[in-house]
Amino acid sequence: MSRARVIPAVDRLLGLPVVVTLAERHGARRVRQSLDEVVASLRADLIAGRADVDTREAATALLLDHLETRLREDRSTLRRVVNATGVVIHTNLGRAPLSSDAIVAMQAVATGYSTLEFALASGQRGSRHAHLEAALREATGAEAGVATNNTAAGLTLALAAVAVGREVVISRGELVEIGGGFRVPDILRGSGALLREVGTTNRTRVADYAAAISERTAAILRVHPSNFRIEGFTERPEVSDLAALARRFGVPLIEDQGSGWLGLDLFDADAFPPAARRLLAQEPAVRDSVRAGVDLVAFSGDKLLGGPQAGLVVGREDLVARLRQHPMMRAVRVDKLRYAALDATIRAFTDGRAVSTVPVMRMLAVTDDTLAERATRLVAQLRARGVSCATAPGHSTVGGGSLPGASLQTTLVRLEGGAPDQRLARLRGGTPPVIARIAEDAVCLDLRTVDEADEPALIDAVVDVLSGA
Ligand SMILES: *Cc1c(COP(=O)(O)O)cnc(C)c1O
Repeated sequence: MSRARVIPAVDRLLGLPVVVTLAERHGARRVRQSLDEVVASLRADLIAGRADVDTREAATALLLDHLETRLREDRSTLRRVVNATGVVIHTNLGRAPLSSDAIVAMQAVATGYSTLEFALASGQRGSRHAHLEAALREATGAEAGVATNNTAAGLTLALAAVAVGREVVISRGELVEIGGGFRVPDILRGSGALLREVGTTNRTRVADYAAAISERTAAILRVHPSNFRIEGFTERPEVSDLAALARRFGVPLIEDQGSGWLGLDLFDADAFPPAARRLLAQEPAVRDSVRAGVDLVAFSGDKLLGGPQAGLVVGREDLVARLRQHPMMRAVRVDKLRYAALDATIRAFTDGRAVSTVPVMRMLAVTDDTLAERATRLVAQLRARGVSCATAPGHSTVGGGSLPGASLQTTLVRLEGGAPDQRLARLRGGTPPVIARIAEDAVCLDLRTVDEADEPALIDAVVDVLSGA
């Protein structure tokens, strides 16, 4: 017990000029709390013989050191990181970074009151659904649309509103797991709809759907198998053929499009380099589905749309009205911040600015030359600070269950030497944490997903981590 006597009283420590300065910067409460914690920790270490301090002065110095470290640490578990993996829509790293337009729009409604459910003209209660109406119509060509918490919620709501207790016809090849608890059969079950599978895993024809439609049928569901590809002996109807079939039988066609890719026709012909353009041309587009006659299309707000987490369901006015009136709507609706961010993000597409202002689009539109120049510059800066590295050709992926297996050329910064696994872990522990990946036995940084404004912080983190090796 006596070893802990070298620890000064907390009140004395709080009176030290350096601690007073810290309290001004971090707040008195937080400093007091952190000091209590470091004192408790040192006391435990001394008693257990894990620390060896025998004067009051040495204990004070050590405590101040620990206090400063603790205050510097970010206490949140949700922290900003540098995504140097080259995976553009990285689900584990929060998918799409938002555009400045979206952030400005959120800030405006976040810091004050807003017209969330208020009609300025009449002074009466308004509908929150009004806010995205115009932007969604213009961006997708649909009659109406509604926003939900995410695509899973949007699809569940759509199925509950249209098909509860009745059959939904779906191809066996589309009973997929998208990831993280999203399995199409479970979504169907959760919504109260009954699953009616048709066709086979690799081939399903329009005639298979036609044969399954009866008076029990409430809808046809088409799901974009977004995270894998079936190759070889395969067959899947065109969306327009399914839409024609659905019309013939008078049942709605619902599509889970997933990525929120709106379509190339919103962009100038030279907006993307040829390789990215080819990739995007293969991705089903929401506008094409609407044009083809799909009755309801569900898609994500935070994948290729590049906005906040959300699910958007667009399509026929009467069906969207049923979604809005469904009791589940209240449970899956979005808040003012997301309306603001979604509206600003969608307008960037319709105003023709998305390729320069929406980060996800910017990362897909960046040229190979620009990536090579940035990598070369980063290598020079790192070498100047003693880090052994070189550029290397590599590939970035789009991720987030879009464009399965698709990759784009990039130039990596390869950190030479060291044990890659250990280095990867040390980079994760850096300030800011840097998430990198291993390619050909070395830690590699892909600048496609690194904001240029983050480069100085990335350099500092890499230098800190590798020089401490
Ligand atoms: C990503 C994805 C989902 C899930 O979207 P969330 O917005 O995360 O719920 C559903 N379907 C498809 C086809 C997807 O690609």
